[in-house]
Amino acid sequence: MEPIYMDNNATTRVAPEVREEMLPYFSELYGNPSSMHTFGGQVGRKIEEARARLAGLLGARPEEIIFTSCGTESDSTAIWAALHSNPDKRHIITTKVEHPAVKNLAEYLAGNGYRVTFVPVDGQGNLDLDYLFDHLSNDTAIVSVMWANNETGVIFPVEEIAERVTAQGAVFHTDAVQAVGKVPINLAENQINMLSLSGHKLHAPKGVGALYVRRGTKFAPFLMGGHQEKGRRAGTENVASIIGLGKAAELSAANMVEENQRVKNLRDKLEKELLARIPKAMVNGNPDKRLPNTTSIAFEYVEGEAILLLMDEFKICASSGSACTSGSLEPSHVLRAMGVPFTAAHGSIRFSLSVYNTEKEVDFVIEKLPPIIERLRQLSPFWVQALKEAGACQR
Ligand SMILES: *Cc1c(COP(=O)(O)O)cnc(C)c1O
Repeated sequence: MEPIYMDNNATTRVAPEVREEMLPYFSELYGNPSSMHTFGGQVGRKIEEARARLAGLLGARPEEIIFTSCGTESDSTAIWAALHSNPDKRHIITTKVEHPAVKNLAEYLAGNGYRVTFVPVDGQGNLDLDYLFDHLSNDTAIVSVMWANNETGVIFPVEEIAERVTAQGAVFHTDAVQAVGKVPINLAENQINMLSLSGHKLHAPKGVGALYVRRGTKFAPFLMGGHQEKGRRAGTENVASIIGLGKAAELSAANMVEENQRVKNLRDKLEKELLARIPKAMVNGNPDKRLPNTTSIAFEYVEGEAILLLMDEFKICASSGSACTSGSLEPSHVLRAMGVPFTAAHGSIRFSLSVYNTEKEVDFVIEKLPPIIERLRQLSPFWVQALKEAGACQR
């Protein structure tokens, strides 16, 4: 039996069309794109095709796309480039709910000579824009705000933020790893300076990402060496994966509207039915400003890890908090920043769907999860206590 995979914010299946497109570059077409001979040159041309396809999805110019090894490298490169090319400015603004790729770097910089402002969110995960704009100053080198949160799916108004930030003379970067392919993006119509994305969140393989750098934005390379990527990212290209990312971008651009509506319908059904069947369950995050594929649901008074374990017996794959925090007992920094109560944060499960999910799978989860939660709650001292305090039995 195939797993019921609802953990697509952690990683996605490589699309069959993407794999097909990549295969020749593992076998007969193994040339180095930097070589002078025709054999290598044809590989170089295919990389330029991938660049154009990705630019097409983003509304960017091909020369504004730099291929990297992952979303994390793109984030690090963007922040490094802004700090390095504006050495007099010592202030950074980011949010309390960034992915570790930005959060941990920002915390490192805060301990190493930079002033860092972490913008808070409200109970629904919405960013406090006044707080952000109040802290913006002539000393701010870069503002980095994710387009969509990986845990809750909440979308931030990055285009509006970019306008204010760039008017102030600071660089605006967005980690759009979760947004690309799920929300329409048109960089020709906004002021965003830099944007990060990752192949494996988009049905391309792991180990490839990209950084968009708007023409005219000051830039400094993170990896120095050869002249690949016009000297902006040294190292021989991950040819097959770049070609895969280009194909994934093309597929996404062609099917974005219909596919996202289909995924959203499945997500909405899953969420609605689980909330109807399971008492003391609630959605984390603004339900109206969310990615179409994501729902984070708090099941109060149970342990998320225990839910995952019991779902695993039915091959249902989801996530508690983010993949990077699971394995530790700390509740996720995102849910903590939102002020989600301890007893709910611990029992929060993220389901993230993709175009490969079916209604049959959603129905299966709707059938299997309620008895799992009930069984765990019967074992949970918190739940027993809560029922006693309410002075009533739920059933
Ligand atoms: C997955 C993810 C990343 C990291 O991307 P990698 O390619 O795994 O390095 C960064 N930001 C967000 C929002 C993500 O979801």
